[in-house]
Amino acid sequence: MVIADPAPAPVLAPLDPAAKAAAFADLREKVLGCVKCPHLVASRKSVVFGVGSIDAELMFVGEAPGADEDAQGEPFVGKAGELLTRIIGTMGLTRETVYIANILKCRPDTPGESSGNRKPTPEEMQTCIPWLHQQIDLIRPRVLVALGGTAVEGLLGKTLGITKLRGNWQTYRGIPLMPTYHPAYLLRNQAMTEKRKVWEDMLAAMEKLGMPISDKQRGFFLRGA
Ligand code: URA
Repeated sequence: MVIADPAPAPVLAPLDPAAKAAAFADLREKVLGCVKCPHLVASRKSVVFGVGSIDAELMFVGEAPGADEDAQGEPFVGKAGELLTRIIGTMGLTRETVYIANILKCRPDTPGESSGNRKPTPEEMQTCIPWLHQQIDLIRPRVLVALGGTAVEGLLGKTLGITKLRGNWQTYRGIPLMPTYHPAYLLRNQAMTEKRKVWEDMLAAMEKLGMPISDKQRGFFLRGA
């Protein structure tokens, strides 16, 4: 299945490390002060910019901050985040060596509700996505992992459904992108077969990066393993 790139790959001149760090700090400052969505500005506790290494070869993209992320100002720190951190660790990596960000930098508001999350609206995604494009342009990861349907939709601009897309390499502006299930899905569906699907997507990402993969790693979540 082939999906057209949402925009042509920008022609990127090599960045020297100091200029890259300065540009990233500048971007962070701008994002933290963003007021483009007045309803989210009114409800948010934090703007959740992203976390990890700006030189990461592997970048994970999720949907939007939840209550825990909004409270702490860091992506993927709630229950789904704990699972993502375990997945990253099982790959032999850490949250510090990859980069983790979301399509939306603010928690989608839920007026009148004391808890719960909602999917970002197309308007919110369209408004916020330029920040993520700029993060990716500066980090220039070698591989992107899109966690769930909203991340795929935000990055590729198409809604084919994560069940059809996962496990199949896509391209985001010249960067290989692996769509996989969101960790929150794995918390709801604990079947070994579903865990294995996500793990196979991670093995594919590791292979693409030329990372060493042990027999033990290859065997995780296989029946009887
Ligand atoms: N789910 C997401 O998609 N992103 C987060 O940061 C947390 C949960």
